[in-house]
Amino acid sequence: METTVIRMHPRSNRERKDAYESNKLVKRLRRLAGEAVADYGLIADGDKVMVCLSGGKDSYALLDVLMHFRAHAPVRFELVAVNLDQKQPGFPAHVLPEYLTALGVPFRIETQDTYSTVKRLIPEGKTMCSLCSRLRRGVLYRVAGELGATKIALGHHRDDMLETFLLNLFYSGQLKAMPPKLRSDDGKHVVIRPLIYCEEADLTAYAELRQFPIIPCNLCGSQDKLKRNEMKQLLREWEKRYPGRVETMLNSLRHLRASHLLDPQAFDFDRLPPSRGEGEWASQASEM
Ligand code: SF4
Repeated sequence: METTVIRMHPRSNRERKDAYESNKLVKRLRRLAGEAVADYGLIADGDKVMVCLSGGKDSYALLDVLMHFRAHAPVRFELVAVNLDQKQPGFPAHVLPEYLTALGVPFRIETQDTYSTVKRLIPEGKTMCSLCSRLRRGVLYRVAGELGATKIALGHHRDDMLETFLLNLFYSGQLKAMPPKLRSDDGKHVVIRPLIYCEEADLTAYAELRQFPIIPCNLCGSQDKLKRNEMKQLLREWEKRYPGRVETMLNSLRHLRASHLLDPQAFDFDRLPPSRGEGEWASQASEM
């Protein structure tokens, strides 16, 4: 009787290297997200975490990483994915329900036509993003309340946070970035950003690796991201010229020295012991 020999093709060096790099990438993302969760106490035992899913690479990765934590972390928590269908023209409404059903994660698709509201209220050519985000935030907070979610997880990453920091520094005269954990103004919700230490380039590579069904983010046709893109470009150029600079910026935001800034609300300069001559200066200054 003739026997059939099945030959296994040995993996090429290239394939082995790719598998090794992919493994490193997955581990790095999980490690950094795990560090952020631990550093800022983002998830506690018994939490119900609502993961906001836009259809972009970052929110898919966020859901993936949190699903991994739910399966392996020592704390027990629930996950529910939520997508807000804002009725932007061309939004492929079937993509996320199909993806989430296949994943077996509980989800809710909330449909609210914020797109028409924004179009109606904002004159042509004016900035749409701030009203659009406000409306979206309102809907997501309401849904979180209805679902009994104790945390609302967003997919912002390290580069989003640094771009926001630079935007505030250059355009709004405030030294602030994007917090890893935030209580809503009405005190009812806690927003968390578990990917705050993760690089955007890693999330792009992860999306390719996992073949996420990405929904394009330019369906609204907004041109409002020009300034943010300018900051993104700036960070990229700096990183190219001075490798490691972006990581140093992240570290700087973790080591604030309020005494070396100029905000008397953040540091009580009056409490410093008076130095010699200070009294004289004060008395002379009042006469100047
Ligand atoms: S880019 Fe479009 S969808 Fe996103 S916040 Fe701005 S207006 Fe809204």
